[in-house]
Amino acid sequence: MQVGVLALQGAFREHQRAFEKCGAAARQVRKPEELKGLDRLVIPGGESTVMGKLMGEFNLLEPIKGLAAEGMPVFGTCAGLIMLAKRIRQGRQTSPCLATLSLMDMEVERNAFGRQVDSFEADLSVTGLGEQPLRAVFIRAPYITVADDGVEVLARYGDKIVCARQGPFLACAFHPELTDDLRLHRFFLTLK
Ligand code: GLN
Repeated sequence: MQVGVLALQGAFREHQRAFEKCGAAARQVRKPEELKGLDRLVIPGGESTVMGKLMGEFNLLEPIKGLAAEGMPVFGTCAGLIMLAKRIRQGRQTSPCLATLSLMDMEVERNAFGRQVDSFEADLSVTGLGEQPLRAVFIRAPYITVADDGVEVLARYGDKIVCARQGPFLACAFHPELTDDLRLHRFFLTLK
């Protein structure tokens, strides 16, 4: 199993380590050639505007979209969740200029928890991960404001959707790579 971790910006080393702990081979991806031979790909947290811009400059957007269209599983965390969404809002505006992969039928709002609660941790109940709650670290996190038909909601924080799946695509608003709990990484490895 070859997992690629997009390594242009953000928390990619932690993801690589988490997948290695799961027993998968994980490598960093910065160029289109490095997508060759991958079984699945992770888009880490960071800053979605920067990441989108760099993905455009490094000619990665179209090749990744192509592989995803062929069914390659993709996991987006935090800024990566934003990169997976088809619609993005910030406050009352939708941000038309953000370059994304547009793989999941959902609307997300950036920095949606507001300044007062910039970063926080919470225990979440996540569908498919068993009884034990998952400790989730949120850092200037987005959340999913609308999940269209076909998008399965896996976890909420209060009434806010923070983890969802659509076929081979998985997205969470928090940072599973920053805790020792590998259940979400393992779950991603089972997606087809
Ligand atoms: N606020 C960031 C964004 O909008 C996401 C933060 C993160 O990935 N921790 O891209």
